[in-house]
Amino acid sequence: MLAPFVALLLFAALFTQASWWSMMIIAQPQLAINSIPFTTRVYWMRRANAALAELSDSPCPFAAFGSVIVNHTGSTGLGNLICIAVNENSRTGNPSMHGEIAAINNCTAILTDPNGRFRLSPAEAQDAFADLTIYTNAESCPMCASAIRWSGFREYVYGTSIETLIQNGWGQIQILSEEVFEASRDLPSQSRLIGEILTNETDPYFLWQYNPNSSCPHGCHRPENGLICQAK
Ligand SMILES: [Zn+2]
Repeated sequence: MLAPFVALLLFAALFTQASWWSMMIIAQPQLAINSIPFTTRVYWMRRANAALAELSDSPCPFAAFGSVIVNHTGSTGLGNLICIAVNENSRTGNPSMHGEIAAINNCTAILTDPNGRFRLSPAEAQDAFADLTIYTNAESCPMCASAIRWSGFREYVYGTSIETLIQNGWGQIQILSEEVFEASRDLPSQSRLIGEILTNETDPYFLWQYNPNSSCPHGCHRPENGLICQAK
């Protein structure tokens, strides 16, 4: 009589595990995911880095967090850039204006602009995030990772890991995006998480701030006896 009971337990365990894994939305970064090749991911991560020079007063600002939001659906090729953003804490005085929050704000404004490209209603704009991918050059803090899940993004792609940030002196709330995603399984939307894309190029933006011996990111240098990386 025991065998059927054990089999039932095993079945229940397997079913539970299968359900859990079907909700796991974390993907290997080197693979073509959602039919998007790795080279396209690299292109947009470089664009997130380049947003720093476009929207900041330096290509290597201290808070070097850049993001882009792209629509990969409905088009072939690289996809359709919707908006770019950088960390806006210093410029605005708003401590919650991390790069990802700024990107969500910028894209919402663009999507709902009555004279813009999309002219969506607020309800349509909210729905539109289900087609969008956010690229950010560093793993989001839990505030931003939660905002990404609440937004219903199709995909979230990051470069430098939060662990690398912590190891290099950045104060962080130590909750990984993966943990936020796993804890948000009850939300109606699903989002795919793709981590550590192009870290050889994103990491240098975050290694110099607390290490005077670290080299500066591309396009920047430390003036003699200087502590801060500046544009060449
Ligand atoms: Zn954040």
